[in-house]
Amino acid sequence: MKWVVATWNRDKFKEIEAIFRDLPVNLLSMRDFPDLGAVEETGTTLEQNALLKARAVHAATGLPAIADDTGLAVDALDGAPGVYTARFAGPNASYEENVAKLMALLKGLPPAQRTARFSTCAAFVDAHGELTAEGTVPGTITTRSRGTAGFGYDPVFQPDGETRTFAQMPLAQKQARSHRAIAFEALCRQLDHTFSTNLLEETKA
Ligand code: IMP
Repeated sequence: MKWVVATWNRDKFKEIEAIFRDLPVNLLSMRDFPDLGAVEETGTTLEQNALLKARAVHAATGLPAIADDTGLAVDALDGAPGVYTARFAGPNASYEENVAKLMALLKGLPPAQRTARFSTCAAFVDAHGELTAEGTVPGTITTRSRGTAGFGYDPVFQPDGETRTFAQMPLAQKQARSHRAIAFEALCRQLDHTFSTNLLEETKA
């Protein structure tokens, strides 16, 4: 089975690839389809944006497509940056610029007021239909960056129950508890169910 991961983000692709490593699926990346541009994320929810990306790539390639949309919701910022997490410091902001803006806005706040959560909506789209699943991890925005692994806001996000940020964990340890892993594992459970139902129906026909 060949599926396309609807993201140009190499860091995300690497994590999704690792989640699917033991499954009988050959994941293609957008680099296998260089003519496809980035899909505009015009939705107002993570689910809408994940579906926009997966639908566009399925329509363009004819292959089953998976996508994720991820947001960081910070309580002291009334849930921002949320669905605008990638563009927090501007349309083409780097990871560092986004983190710098977040740290500036939270400057001086004690740990108890720095609560946040990462959420991912994972989506699957093929000719038969669409599925989505969410994963959320609560945590705290640290007062300084720690660690060099991971990407994005990982150096300043410490999941609840941990003394390390995501960027201080090897990939396998981040994957054991990350919003993305939880979302894709839930999506895979739905896919298992759907595929076996379809197979059963085909056997009966
Ligand atoms: P989007 O899902 O492509 O809209 O990306 C959202 C943004 O959130 C990315 O550009 C990263 O800055 C950030 N991000 C997404 N996933 C993670 C993660 O697992 N850790 C830290 N930051 C992330």
